[in-house]
This record gives sequence, C-alpha cells and structure tokens, in this order.
Amino acid sequence: MDKTLFLIGPRGWCAGVERAIGILNAALENLPSPIYVRREIVHNKNVVNFYRSRGVIFVSEISEVPAGRTAIFSAHGIAPSVAMEARERGINIIDATCPLVTKVHFEVQRFVKKGYTVLYIGHRNHEEAAGVLGEAPEKIRIIETEEEARILNLPSSKIIILTQTTLSVDDTNKIIDVLKKRFPRVELPPKEDICYATTNRQLAVKTLIAKHPIELLYVIGSKNSSNSNRLCEVAETLGVPSRLIDGQSNIKPKDWEDKALIGLTAGASAPESLVQEVAKFFKAHGYNVQETIFEREDVTFALPKELSELAAAHGKR
Ligand code: SF4
Repeated sequence: MDKTLFLIGPRGWCAGVERAIGILNAALENLPSPIYVRREIVHNKNVVNFYRSRGVIFVSEISEVPAGRTAIFSAHGIAPSVAMEARERGINIIDATCPLVTKVHFEVQRFVKKGYTVLYIGHRNHEEAAGVLGEAPEKIRIIETEEEARILNLPSSKIIILTQTTLSVDDTNKIIDVLKKRFPRVELPPKEDICYATTNRQLAVKTLIAKHPIELLYVIGSKNSSNSNRLCEVAETLGVPSRLIDGQSNIKPKDWEDKALIGLTAGASAPESLVQEVAKFFKAHGYNVQETIFEREDVTFALPKELSELAAAHGKR
C-alpha cells in the first residue's frame, strides 16, 4: 500500500511566537545574565527546556525576580497588576505579549470605559484569560461552554463579547449564537479576536481532511498549548483520531503502524525542527512525505522599543 504523511501548512510558529523568541534571543545577546521570564515564554516544553539550558530562569511570579534584573513577560500577556508590581520593585521589564493579545486588552479597556460588561469566552485556567481578566475583574464575565452561555444571568444591557485568541473557531461561534439568542443586543468587536494563526491552522486541518481520507492526525505541541489542543479537537470532530505529541519520541507504533494516510501539523508554539524530525521518522518507515500548504502567512511583528533602550543602557547596539 502507498503510505503518505501529509505535512499540513500553515503550521507551527506564528508571528507572536517568533516575536517572543526574538525578544528572548536579543535579551540573551545584549543584556546581563541571568534573564528572567515570567511563566513559559511560549507554551512549548522543548522551547522552554532549550532556553533553560542557556541559563534563562523561568519564574511563576514576578516576586521571584530580584530587583534590578531584567524580566520578560511571556507571549500570553499579563494582568496590569503584574507590570505594576515589577515597576515598583525596580525590575527592567520587556513585554513579549503578542500584539494580538494586547489588542484584546485594549478592547477591554475601551469598552469598560464606555460602560460595557465584557463577556469573555475563554479558558479560565489559561494565562491569557487571567491577564485579560486582570484589566477589569469586576466588569468581565468569563464563559467557557455553550452550557454556561445558556444559564448565564446578565443584568447589564450594554454587553460586548470578546474572546481568547486561541479558541476553536467553530465552538466559539456556537457559544456566540447562544448568547445572541439570549441577549439580542450583545455586540461583537469590530475585528475577530481569534487570531489569524489559530484560524489558519484549524482551517488547514479541515481542508486536508476534506481532500484526503487521513486515518490519524499528529499535532506537535505541548499539553498546555491551547491552540494545539484545539487542532486535535478539530480533527476528532471530523472523525479523525488525533495525537498531541511533544516530538518524535512520543510516537507509539500501535497508533500508526496500520495507517497509510497520516496528517502532521504543529501548534503555534512548536518549532519546525520538531516537525522535520517526525517527517524524517515516517520517511524512514516508508512514507512519502507530502507538503500541503493551504495558505501562505506573511504576518510579522516588530520587537519592542524597550529592548533597544535596555541594550543601549548596557552599551550594546
Ligand atoms: Fe499571537 Fe495568535 Fe500566535 Fe497567540 S497564536 S501568539 S495570539 S499570533
């Protein structure tokens, strides 16, 4: 039988992750060690372990960073109180929050100022949601499921729906439909909050499944990566079993041995080197490796100015 591994594109690092990694690399090159990062710079075990091996110190809270040192905020964003605490303690901050997450923070500020209650669709235990919630805890209601949307009580008449950037497009639309039926006057932001990278990666998986009867989808990504988990769900919803793996070492023969057509993608925080390792593995087992790119991405984000300011203060650049 002909065996094919489809490499689905777009996949892997998005512009927000490229920017966060670029910030960390520049900080390592130009600023005194050690560099501290609050939480995981991006949700990927391999990436975090790589930087840990280069001397980066990952902390859970800003209180763990000594005064006068440099701390980078991760791509997922922070509550304003975290930045305030860092400034008060004399920590040099570099903010690697993805600009598309920052956009949602600005939307919260703008709508709350106009007297709106924000209905935020997102995952309560995700750092991105915690950061957004921190903008105006008393004015934001967080919901995760259609069921929660069905039983929600809202006294306010001015309601805006905002969302986490890495959700399932389809599940979010279902929740929004419920909310619109229950609260006909709810408003949506002028521009979609689920980001281009999340949308494109989900659409690419759906398109591949529509064109080729794959029997299994591998998603490279860590367990705490929201957008990677959503890619697995997209496949499962369409009847294709999926496996979330950190890399080639997690591949189990019982999963793929009897499968001729397999898809491979990667969440927005998984580096391409891991994809290529898995592709090499399947090639060695007799699979044709076929690139199937459904959309080219050309989004880039500039590095923040505080990075060059800090570098200049330390005599670099
Ligand atoms: Fe930004 Fe989207 Fe990437 Fe998250 S997944 S870092 S929101 S571009």
